[in-house]
Amino acid sequence: MKEFFVETPEREAFVPITEHIQTAIDAAGLRDGLCTVYVPHTTAGVTINEGADPDVVRDMLMAFGRIVPDDLPYRHFEGNSTAHIKTAMVGTSTTILVRDGRLQLGTWQTIYLCEFDGPRRRKVWLHFQDQGA
Ligand code: ZN
Repeated sequence: MKEFFVETPEREAFVPITEHIQTAIDAAGLRDGLCTVYVPHTTAGVTINEGADPDVVRDMLMAFGRIVPDDLPYRHFEGNSTAHIKTAMVGTSTTILVRDGRLQLGTWQTIYLCEFDGPRRRKVWLHFQDQGA
């Protein structure tokens, strides 16, 4: 398993991590297989979505804010229930195909660490499954 860290800049942010992951694949020499990305947190997750237009991420954060209102009578003592709920919505892991040493992402796809209770230092764990010849 590989691990790297991400410093998130704000309370809510989607931080692109595709290059970190590709670098780890290069270092491991993985050619063909699967890469599982796992975020071991309860108020940050991971998703794959458009990386070209930053307004897509802004719109997603705006819509998550509408779907998960701040003013419900939450009981969780930490006061960050909205971050837990948004993390449950995006999930904490994803798996990407690797072929010829490259993450197989669509033209517009970027892998994001999704921060909902930052800024913080977050961990990302990677597991590679080698299915090479
Ligand atoms: Zn909490």
